[in-house]
Amino acid sequence: MFDKIAKLINSYDSFLITTHINPDGDAIGSEVALKIFLEDLDKNVVIVNSSATPRSLAFLDPDGEIKIFPHDVGKEILEAVDVIFILDVNNSEHLGGFGRPIEGSSHPRVCIDHHEGEERGFADISANDATVAATGVLVHDLIQSMAGSISRAIADAIYATIITDTGTFRFSNTDARTFRLAAELCDRGVNPFEIHRHVFGSKTWGAGNLLGPVLGTVEHAADGRLAWIHVTQKMINDAHAIYDDTDGFVDLVRAIKGVELVLFFKELPDGNVKVSLRSNGRVDAFVIAESYGGGGHRMASGMRVEGPMEKAIEKIVATCLQMDVIKNPPD
Ligand code: 5GP
Ligand code: MN
Repeated sequence: MFDKIAKLINSYDSFLITTHINPDGDAIGSEVALKIFLEDLDKNVVIVNSSATPRSLAFLDPDGEIKIFPHDVGKEILEAVDVIFILDVNNSEHLGGFGRPIEGSSHPRVCIDHHEGEERGFADISANDATVAATGVLVHDLIQSMAGSISRAIADAIYATIITDTGTFRFSNTDARTFRLAAELCDRGVNPFEIHRHVFGSKTWGAGNLLGPVLGTVEHAADGRLAWIHVTQKMINDAHAIYDDTDGFVDLVRAIKGVELVLFFKELPDGNVKVSLRSNGRVDAFVIAESYGGGGHRMASGMRVEGPMEKAIEKIVATCLQMDVIKNPPD
């Protein structure tokens, strides 16, 4: 799967790495691991993203080298590199503001990703495998296929990708392969407690203030098979919280027995609404997200819909209530 990518790496000197908007641990960890590997090969590498690195992942970029488009660098940077790597995303809309310039670039684009669905025509070479738990696993396999060494720094970054996308070995994408790789990374020096503390233990007191109000919005229908919560910008401001503080809230509702699908509606600064969908297995969340222009995985997907909040909730809840799995109780 990695032959063509290895050839490109061996043939060129300078690389740009990017990922999706609002990057998570799989996005940043994959970028950082690939950057360190390429730098070990004496390549010039720059990471450029459309959104800032969340505070919980700053430990992966201790010298603050990740650049933000268009704040730190403009689209000219694309002309200064030989190859563009696009990680943990398979469509250009989800790349954010940097997506358009990337689509317009004449340099080879490589996509490494594990989301459902085909890469939508924005890469020249792609390594896509929806059976792996995280994009970081693919980056790890690429490095190994090129006989690269997994240093402690690379291991830390890959471990962060795995615990992010498996919810620390809890989600349905956790399998023996995931545990084996995690154990190997521990052999390379990863301290699981330390990485977990960074990734999931960097919340502010604002997150504590926000938890009660957000859980207080919970509503459900169809005998509790569909549940939803929401957060507005005002609720975030009133709690002195930040958007990222809402990470993980949706899983608290997902934990309720009998819930098949949870929707978390998050008001964005522009008044539109981000919807996170989490299934407990019977609902294909990816199909719903894809029909609204989003994407992700069967069990966890996301999309952006037009505001205001009340309209967005009304529309998406109505769509979900039409689904057979929501309408009918399990046998
Ligand atoms: P989350 O709800 O945690 O933001 O995202 C869950 C999954 O859905 C992740 O794999 C994420 O990459 C994907 N996802 C979230 N929002 C979007 C979106 O707007 N477009 C696409 N294509 N994927 C999304
Ligand atoms: Mn991922």
